[in-house]
Amino acid sequence: MKQSIYGLTFDQLTEWLVEHGEKKFRSKQVWDWLYQKRITQFSEMKNVNPSCIDKLTEHFTIETLTEEIKQESKDGTIKFLFKLDDGNVIETVLMRFNYGLSVCVTTQVGCNIGCSFCASGILRKSRDLTSGEIVEQIMQVQQHLDKQGKDERVSHIVVMGIGEPFDNYDNLIDFLHVVNDQKGLSIGARHITVSTSGIAPKMYEFADEGIQINLALSIHAPNNELRSQIMKINKAYPLEKLMPAIDYYLEKTNRRITFEYILLRDVNDHVKEAHQLADLLMDKKHLSYVNLIPYNPVADHPYERSEKEAILSFYQTLMDRGIKCGVRTEHGTDIDAACGQLRSKQIEKEKARKRKQAQVN
Ligand code: SAH
Ligand code: SF4
Repeated sequence: MKQSIYGLTFDQLTEWLVEHGEKKFRSKQVWDWLYQKRITQFSEMKNVNPSCIDKLTEHFTIETLTEEIKQESKDGTIKFLFKLDDGNVIETVLMRFNYGLSVCVTTQVGCNIGCSFCASGILRKSRDLTSGEIVEQIMQVQQHLDKQGKDERVSHIVVMGIGEPFDNYDNLIDFLHVVNDQKGLSIGARHITVSTSGIAPKMYEFADEGIQINLALSIHAPNNELRSQIMKINKAYPLEKLMPAIDYYLEKTNRRITFEYILLRDVNDHVKEAHQLADLLMDKKHLSYVNLIPYNPVADHPYERSEKEAILSFYQTLMDRGIKCGVRTEHGTDIDAACGQLRSKQIEKEKARKRKQAQVN
């Protein structure tokens, strides 16, 4: 199968072109067509010589995702459901903030980490996305904005869609280099956040990458017993392995980490757990920020959203202990914009349709 050209970093493309008998400066032209003019056919690259266009067409594709569904919420959030060229579906979300336009990307088809509260976890991973497929999610959203004619640009990226980014590490890193490159989309590293469930060895590697990308850690519980109950990854990387990885990251980068904490009613939302979390983060509180996430209930999952009072008490306890925190504002709740929800609904619909068809036959 042909490779997506969006998957190549600038240096990889330059190397490929030179290997295929082209001049080095061609990569600058090709990137300009892809990321500034945002064409979708190689034949539109007017200043590129025809023989180079032939080679590119023979080896690469530009568009591989097909838009299946696009839902727009009252608050301006847009959820895209894309079909990959192997028929799998993924979702991408565009959110509007006062500071800019942020896109939430998917990194895998399903997820193997299997957190007990997450819609993506039930659908086991069927494969990793390629770096090209991750970049193309941004391009498709940007092309949607281009068509609106309001001169709007994607300014922020959160790698918080379906999948565990550190379980698809090399493709994630290529993706980050492509979108961050000043010759391309030039989305600032400080405007990009990668969220992980806590694959400790990869956190060391990420700290050593020397890029200024923000890291978010899904902590969700302040002790091993509770954390293992809701995130089975904690058995492989319990807090005594995770905390040293966090310390290493902080020491190496001196960048703040965001700790994500989903509040599950009567499970991890007591004041007791807020104190335990404060204890856990106390020695790094100057570089910590806790993002409290109201849970989005998922069908067939045992959890409920915390009461407003519990959320407030949790927040206040952390603040009183000097831990900076906030409660995440929700986007697009009227369109299933929570992690994996539209996709799992769509898959359920498809299954029901097939069951019906089988009955008719
Ligand atoms: N796998 C990575 C990134 C994708 S999940 C991770 O777990 O960090 C991104 C965030 O969405 C995580 O913090 C996750 O806990 C949260 N999330 C998943 N399901 C959710 C739900 N139903 N309601 C609210 N947040 C959810
Ligand atoms: Fe995977 Fe993240 Fe969902 Fe856990 S929360 S199952 S790691 S996508």
